Amino acid sequence: MDIRKTEMNKKALIIGSGIGGIATSIRLALKGYDVTIFEKDSGPGGKLNVLQLGNYRFDLGPSLFTMPHFVTELFELAGKDPADYFTYKKVDLACRYFWEDGLVMNDWSDPEKLAEESFQKLGAEKQRVTNYIRHAIKLYDKTAPVFLQKSLHQWKNYLSADWLKAGTYFPNMDIFKTMDKANRQRLGHPRLVQMFNRMATYNGSSPYKAPGILAIITSLEHGPGVFFPEKGMYSITRSLVRLAEELGVTFRYSEEVTSILHSNKKVKGIKTNKGEYEAETVVSNMDVVHTFRKLMKDIPEPTRTLNQERSSSALVFYWGMKNSYPELDLHNIFFSDNYPKEFQYIFDKLEMYDDPTVYVHISSKESPADAPDGHENWFVMVNAPHNEGQDWQGIAKVTRKNIIDKLSRILGKNVEEDIAIEYVFDPPAIESKTSSWRGSLYGTSSNSKFAAFLRHPNFTRKMKGLYFVGGSVHPGGGIPLCLQGAKILGEVIC
Ligand code: FAD
Repeated sequence: MDIRKTEMNKKALIIGSGIGGIATSIRLALKGYDVTIFEKDSGPGGKLNVLQLGNYRFDLGPSLFTMPHFVTELFELAGKDPADYFTYKKVDLACRYFWEDGLVMNDWSDPEKLAEESFQKLGAEKQRVTNYIRHAIKLYDKTAPVFLQKSLHQWKNYLSADWLKAGTYFPNMDIFKTMDKANRQRLGHPRLVQMFNRMATYNGSSPYKAPGILAIITSLEHGPGVFFPEKGMYSITRSLVRLAEELGVTFRYSEEVTSILHSNKKVKGIKTNKGEYEAETVVSNMDVVHTFRKLMKDIPEPTRTLNQERSSSALVFYWGMKNSYPELDLHNIFFSDNYPKEFQYIFDKLEMYDDPTVYVHISSKESPADAPDGHENWFVMVNAPHNEGQDWQGIAKVTRKNIIDKLSRILGKNVEEDIAIEYVFDPPAIESKTSSWRGSLYGTSSNSKFAAFLRHPNFTRKMKGLYFVGGSVHPGGGIPLCLQGAKILGEVIC
């Protein structure tokens, strides 16, 4: 048995090298911890990963980058210049939207420009657009300090003045309306409602179930704006791993954690496929459901928390295209003609709708080296139900045809003829690659008004020394929230 000992109280073991695990390692190393990350995969990143298909480079998972300061602050904390590690730029166009009837709308990050576009293309009242964005930014300013930047599971945090400030804005939070209803009231025009309803999918939820407070997500794109890492999304992972290694963090790849060792309600270390390691601090960046069900089979699981509805998953087609499409931008959405029905299929029927909303992300628009000259790398994603053992091969075949038909119809071109190379990532593959329970992208959905409180805390009272970080626990999924989770955890542990 391979038991390694150092100063036990300053040793931390992290299970998983997703963005949450890496950011936590940096924060703990900066506080003097001796940190080791165990990763079952052969490299770091989890969902924030990379895929090379012939001469085409793709980011495997996330494509939309907001709140870059959550990344750069980690370099600054370490006394480094972020630009020596990670460069990014702001993009003016958050997304280009296409509808079946030929309407194309540019969703400018700048609220005034978007208001002008809404007036020109839809005849919408400019003031309603700018008011809505102002409301979303105010929601963020009032609620982020209590819901996203602190643990919701420590009583002392409820005594802060921030709760008072959030309370004063409570009547405007639209908690008792669905996001769709709140957006209809605030925006009026159905196309704008559909555009802003889509923000619910940024944490894997349905705008027809999630509360109106999710308008907060709009504040990211239209407040600080949308950004693009100059060397692709995976450069976030690469640059943070470099920083972590410089701070002395050890990464042990291809080493799967098989159980968490404990006695008398205290963590003692972990067991992997290669040995046992002692520590009084263990952080799981693995999905919390799998952490309990696979690594701690011997203790009762928090059933109510773990049984929360999963967020949506995704079916992604990576297409190397032997042509370029000047009418497309970095982020493009081709809307379903029946948005409510699409979400009914995803969350109620757990099936794929035959007219899905299609997202096409083309990083080669900003980073030409990602595809050969005159070619493009298309990341084509549709929201999908979480994995319940559906026939994903059959679903992928039908959905691929529906997507190609839709894109060809709207763009007036035979899209299929341009596909030179292809790879498909479906919910079971997402589940097996990253251990994400049921292949959900963002842990639990926010379809309930109590979702924020029902997410698993960053620690457990069942076991001293055991902590959690990443998309399946507080404050939730997506890169900015996983980074916030690491910040909260840095404070909780230290
Ligand atoms: P994860 O990425 O879930 O990684 C967990 C790590 O733990 C993995 O590396 C896994 O191999 C490892 N692990 C698991 N079990 C073990 C074990 N027993 N032993 C050792 N290692 C283990 N977010 C955005 O902000 N913007 C987007 O545009 C966006 N789009 C997305 C598109 C797709 C297709 C996907 C899949 C996700 C997307 N997300 C997006 C969500 C975002 O990727 C995640 O919320 C975030 O990356 C999750 O990070 P995490 O810290 O929870 O770790």
